[in-house]
Amino acid sequence: MSMRIGHGYDSHEFKLGVPLVIGGVKLEHTHGLAGHSDGDVLLHAITDALLGAVAAGDIGTFFPPSDKRWKGADSVIFLEEAMRQIEIAGFRVVNIDMTLILAAPKIVPHAEKLRARVAELLKIIPSCVGIKAKTPEGTGTDNAAIAHAVVLLESIPLETLLEEDEACVCVGEDEDF
Ligand SMILES: [Zn+2]
Repeated sequence: MSMRIGHGYDSHEFKLGVPLVIGGVKLEHTHGLAGHSDGDVLLHAITDALLGAVAAGDIGTFFPPSDKRWKGADSVIFLEEAMRQIEIAGFRVVNIDMTLILAAPKIVPHAEKLRARVAELLKIIPSCVGIKAKTPEGTGTDNAAIAHAVVLLESIPLETLLEEDEACVCVGEDEDF
């Protein structure tokens, strides 16, 4: 079995009057995050961590900000593409650890909901999802949300692949066409 590690980082500026979406969960707050998509800083960091783990570039490789199709897009689309890329490479997620750095809102009351959503998106159980939130003490970034994500992948065992697609077993076995 082979393993891979990936790291992702992202930041977005707070903007008054737009919805706040973090980790695929809508949170009540006066400000949301500005960005070309829905500004989901956490899902963007996770997407980059997944792509980085299989050396498949980054979020901009697949979804260039210059492309109007991704204006206001649900960032779940980006994460699902990254999941597709790691599966193509023959890997699945083992666990993830994340740190959010933001002045407000408080993340602790929403942490369980965020963990459950991220677990669902990464096809793992919530006990394999770590989330921590910090305030940006002394960094002067009170008007931004920053996210870091570190993800561990393992290669998908061959028997699992064969169960999912038995057609693979037949390749090359039957020469009497
Ligand atoms: Zn972003």
